Amino acid sequence: MRKWGPAVLSAVLAVMLAFAVTGPASADKRPRQKTPSKIVYLTFDDGPNSMNDPRLLRILAREQVPATFFVLGNLLAADRQRATELWLAGHAIGNHTWAHPDLTFLSPAAIHHQFASTQRLMGPGAGACMRPPYGATNSTVSNVANGLGLKQVLWTVDPQDYAHQNAAYLTTYISSRVHDKAIVLMHDGGGPRGATTSAVKQLIPILRARGYEFRTVPSCRVPLKGSATDAAKPKVRKPEPVVPDEPVPTPSAPAGMAP
Ligand SMILES: [Zn+2]
Repeated sequence: MRKWGPAVLSAVLAVMLAFAVTGPASADKRPRQKTPSKIVYLTFDDGPNSMNDPRLLRILAREQVPATFFVLGNLLAADRQRATELWLAGHAIGNHTWAHPDLTFLSPAAIHHQFASTQRLMGPGAGACMRPPYGATNSTVSNVANGLGLKQVLWTVDPQDYAHQNAAYLTTYISSRVHDKAIVLMHDGGGPRGATTSAVKQLIPILRARGYEFRTVPSCRVPLKGSATDAAKPKVRKPEPVVPDEPVPTPSAPAGMAP
């Protein structure tokens, strides 16, 4: 027995070594780790808009997708109930100024008025964020906003939906450029947005299949009514009525003022 000892020991060590290298089971049998979710923020500017919002909100509600709406004070003044509806539907509401000026041409006092007067009309769902029209900003604009507790939110994906009213184009543009934590700029106001709404409808399943989750922009606050996703659940699930992609232009805002 003693003379076989080294040979047996060598064999045992060889088996142990092989076991250590290959492991007790192949890697394929280990439980797969869930792929981390990616986040995308859908944002809509230049509303509220009585022509475009109803269909857009129906789609978002049915898909339980929360979004962020950057509203204009002068339009909100004529439709104050709209902010409450957005809030109750689980969406975040951001400040897009009162009258959509280029803020970089205004005095600090005028900039303050643009934001403060709008913020007052936004109701209990008012977010703590602003988006300067045209993305035009400077240190004066951001300082005034900071003084009001508003964080500046721009965007990372701009399909220029005001210039490309084609749902297929918008869907392809956005889906090919989206990335984790992408902020997608679209418009629910400023003109007919049937193509934008149709693109949203097409994009949601495409992005979900690629692992994206939809959230509201954090600084625009999630409504108090539970999570945005829960709040966005429709009470009654019913099919969306067929609406043409290109509704007649809305008279509530001048064309060509996007973004
Ligand atoms: Zn705008």
